[in-house]
Amino acid sequence: FSFGYEDVPPEEKTRRVRGVFSNVASRYDLMNDFMSAGMHRIWKNQFVAKLKPRAGQHILDMAGGTGDIAFRIAERGAQVTVADINPEMLAVGRERVKRRGIEGLLWAEENAEALSFPDQTFDAYTIAFGIRNVTHIDKALAEAYRVLRIGGRFLCLEFSTTTWPGFKQLYDRYSHDVVPKIGKAVARDEDSYRYLVESIRRFPDMPTFKRMIEAAGFAQVTVDPILGGAVAIHSGWKT
Ligand code: SAM
Repeated sequence: FSFGYEDVPPEEKTRRVRGVFSNVASRYDLMNDFMSAGMHRIWKNQFVAKLKPRAGQHILDMAGGTGDIAFRIAERGAQVTVADINPEMLAVGRERVKRRGIEGLLWAEENAEALSFPDQTFDAYTIAFGIRNVTHIDKALAEAYRVLRIGGRFLCLEFSTTTWPGFKQLYDRYSHDVVPKIGKAVARDEDSYRYLVESIRRFPDMPTFKRMIEAAGFAQVTVDPILGGAVAIHSGWKT
């Protein structure tokens, strides 16, 4: 059983990623708290604070999974479409919405690389801890650009590479040695969490990803590093 980045055809990577999230869906929210010691909540709050969503806007939360970003946006009155390739993740999200009584959410099964939405549909496109799982990042960025209105914003929250020297070693050891073990103990799925760590290690660093966003056509692209860049918020505008 392997998720590797060995020479598998692209469709195969997409299929395996889908499998990873099907395996972890029911324990996904719990695992986030365990692995980040609750910090993912702070990062998500910071991310949505930067977006400043408001009533009257329609926002696409891509790779929205179980709804963490979408809930925070909806609380501020904007309409959100939560789109994800994985129906199991979306199903967990729908259940959470019912329990919390949140309104203003639409759900859609979508592949970030080929969206079914018409051009210029959304006021903002958010993607949190999603883009590193996408097989062709350039295609996903092109689709983000296409579905945004002129003046619309692209905002991405993702693991990246920390530039703090001491912290980097600690972090690498933690993710390599500890995270798969937590995956095994809590989600009973070591392989999926090994894949997740590997996908973080392989994701382009902050300057490279910034250039990729610019190459897709976005303007005024900026990066806010968190923990020296272990996590980063990239922002761009469709002008
Ligand atoms: N945004 C949520 C959050 O911050 O909690 C979920 C993030 S979760 C780590 C990554 C999500 O990306 C999963 O729900 C997975 O199904 C989704 N995903 C992976 N590849 C995708 C693709 N090609 N298109 C759309 N969603 C994808």
